Amino acid sequence: MVEMTAHRDHELLNMSVASSLRAITAAEAVRIWECNSGHHGVLLRERVMIGSDGACVAPEGHAARWRAVTDFQDLYKGLEAGLQVITGKDPPCCLWLPVSVKGRVHTCFELHLCTPLPAASLDVIRGILLIYQNYQSLLNDSEHDTLTGLLNRKTFDDHFTKVLRADWSDPGYSLQQPQACQRRNAPDAPLHDWLAIIDIDHFKQVNDHYGHLYGDEVLILIANLLRTSFRPDDRLFRFGGEEFVVLLRQVSSDDAHRIFERFRSNVEMQHFPQVGRVTVSTGYAHIDLQEAPVAIMGRADQALYHAKTSGRNCVCNYDQLLRRGQVQHESANDTAEFF
Ligand code: GH3
Ligand code: MG
Ligand code: MG
Repeated sequence: MVEMTAHRDHELLNMSVASSLRAITAAEAVRIWECNSGHHGVLLRERVMIGSDGACVAPEGHAARWRAVTDFQDLYKGLEAGLQVITGKDPPCCLWLPVSVKGRVHTCFELHLCTPLPAASLDVIRGILLIYQNYQSLLNDSEHDTLTGLLNRKTFDDHFTKVLRADWSDPGYSLQQPQACQRRNAPDAPLHDWLAIIDIDHFKQVNDHYGHLYGDEVLILIANLLRTSFRPDDRLFRFGGEEFVVLLRQVSSDDAHRIFERFRSNVEMQHFPQVGRVTVSTGYAHIDLQEAPVAIMGRADQALYHAKTSGRNCVCNYDQLLRRGQVQHESANDTAEFF
């Protein structure tokens, strides 16, 4: 337990729990599945498998892609029945241990056993999972903004570099997207990751005219629109008061523009109770893995500033503005004042 709760990182925490489960059950193998529950149902992708010798093997290529829970009938039926411990049919003895945070399946452990476990071991497992679940929930709370439920600024600062280098640089990344969520990129168009800063226009006026409660309601509705406009693998942050950051993965320049423009239009078309119409301005830039996050943010911020001074309710791409001479290239030091 001490070892488990020493981690502030989901991956390390998962590894620690998986190792404990392996030690307690003498499992031949323990697989950790990352789960994503949304309007598309539950999707799973394997993160790592720990073998009987304790060695960890990360899946490659096809094996690392997202899969629908219906591909795993035992797990699917067990989840439908609300079971905590699900016994699978194959291999000879398999246990699925799904863990939910805030009512959504978050992680699933798959244990391959030589023989069925005695009831006492199952009780110990249930206890471990309960502590794990509570701790995941605490970690989750510390990473999310309480008003909108989006990832918070602290998470952005802590994880930006890690997220980029660990997950996104995987060349097979686009193959790993959930089937239902794959983007149709034009063939041969170079793919990039993108960072956008989205800022609500004249939000101070919303607060001044309608009061903070209605202002907060607008923030919540915008966060909901973000969730439905972007894909599960994109990352959404509430960065400051009425500013949001989106990390968009592996799309062409044209598609990035279309996606941010679609969000801008979704906001424009939404009716906000009492307030009526609200608009957002967006500045975005491609993510260069060699660059410091502060430099990438600086470029997106320059594009946002341009959007604000060009009439608002529009989307500006830094690289395009640079080509047209509408922004100047600044070094990371020059942009530090933005943050
Ligand atoms: P611009 O179009 O230039 O972005 O104008 P703006 O009014 O949106 O920008 P400004 O930065 O002047 O004002 C931001 C306002 O956001 C100030 C504050 O009243 C409001 N705000 C910040 N955080 C919150 C919050 O958590 N809840 C509410 N209701 N309002 C917030
Ligand atoms: Mg604003
Ligand atoms: Mg602002």
